[in-house]
Amino acid sequence: MKESRQTGSRQTAIDRALRVYDSGQFLGDLQRRVSFRTESQNPAQADAVRAYLTDEVAPSLAPLGFTSRIVENAAAARAPFLIAERIEDPALPTVLTYGHGDVVRGYDEQWREGLAPWTITVEGDRWYGRGTADNKGQHSVNFAALGAVLDARGGKLGYNVKLIFETGEEIGSPGLDAVCAAHREALAADVFIASDGPRVLAERPTLFLGSRGGVAFELLVDLRKGAHHSGNWGGALRNPAIVLSHAIASLVDRRGAIAVDGLRPPPISASVREALADIVLGGDEDAPAIDPDWGEPGLTPTERVIAWNTLEVLAFKAGNPDAPVNAIPPMAKATCQLRFVVGTDAERAGEHLEAHFARLGFDDVKVRVTQISAATRLDPNDAWVHWALESLRASTDKKPALLPNLGGTVPNDVFAYTLGLPTLWVPHSYPACAQHAPNEHLLGSVAREALAVMAGLWWDLGEDAARLASTHAQAQSQAQAPQSSDAVLQ
Ligand SMILES: [Zn+2]
Repeated sequence: MKESRQTGSRQTAIDRALRVYDSGQFLGDLQRRVSFRTESQNPAQADAVRAYLTDEVAPSLAPLGFTSRIVENAAAARAPFLIAERIEDPALPTVLTYGHGDVVRGYDEQWREGLAPWTITVEGDRWYGRGTADNKGQHSVNFAALGAVLDARGGKLGYNVKLIFETGEEIGSPGLDAVCAAHREALAADVFIASDGPRVLAERPTLFLGSRGGVAFELLVDLRKGAHHSGNWGGALRNPAIVLSHAIASLVDRRGAIAVDGLRPPPISASVREALADIVLGGDEDAPAIDPDWGEPGLTPTERVIAWNTLEVLAFKAGNPDAPVNAIPPMAKATCQLRFVVGTDAERAGEHLEAHFARLGFDDVKVRVTQISAATRLDPNDAWVHWALESLRASTDKKPALLPNLGGTVPNDVFAYTLGLPTLWVPHSYPACAQHAPNEHLLGSVAREALAVMAGLWWDLGEDAARLASTHAQAQSQAQAPQSSDAVLQ
């Protein structure tokens, strides 16, 4: 394995990938892709969303030897899927990859003077445009790098590739799990490799293995019909805003640590702690200043975000905040969120909240869980992880960052649990990319390095996939409980 990385062929693949960038072809391809207004939140752009699959992705994959088909989405008709495959030999190992063609709304009028969402504007190292970072730039890197490896290997990869492409990621991936379950056979693979989200720092190649999960919930205190004058009734009537404030304060202490046992994670494992030891949160220039005394005591800020749970109040409403009146409001409502890591009993978060409020006598606080998405994390000691880190290092001469999971959420539970795959994510964006906001951009320097990273990874897969697939399978069958309790969340 080591020797093959020193041969000219691996370097040839990387050089060809870099040439795609240096020749301007990569920018041209991305420009064409960004010009599709694939806003999944905007029903008026349903045709553009579909056209991105039929007129852009499928024709781009065909020359690489893929056959593609559109799969309709029963859960969201305007967010279809594309499933593609390139079968070199059914006896070879198979990688499944993923991308999403949709973007969030353009917010055209909010972009800085001289910039627009549907045309790429290059300013120095920054390539501005909606989707340059999330996710069009990232899947464009991966397609181009795959083409470079095919060229360098004389039209062969040494493995099969399958691809599932969705167009509803920005509206919560409706139907993705159902489609993967229904096409389990067609999507069967040995490993999952894809790109989305940010690197830990622009200059640091990054590998992440899953994501935190999320529980969205509302707390409601609804005491009576209508408001009552605070002078005539204050003192005799309970105030729902104050009751709810105390209820929230009983969940999270004054420094942000979660006080409910059932909502807390298991202790941080040695391998996770080790992986996070040299990762600094918020090193980029546009990052906010970190509050060192906020969150779980005894942890670093990185551990608090990546390896721990957090409970946030996203919105709080009582009365009319824009036009307050002298009245005791009848009700108060808080929209909250628990972000959690693997091993948390998040499936029963609602029960834990209710039991906690019952114990403290908050009988008027109603809990409504609106959504649960599962947490995932491939074991940092898995053979695939060591392999990928070594590949990234060989292609960049840098020590890559290993994030056991992303702090935010990608729909990785579908790949990790529904399809049962070891999941490797290699992000090509960076923390200050303004993803989901005006002025979204990709860094040209990161895209260029990412082309080398992915060419190296797609190359190494041809050398090592069969060995790694059997090592992983052996480890899985030896593990006493390969599906731990967190695997059944949903
Ligand atoms: Zn996004």
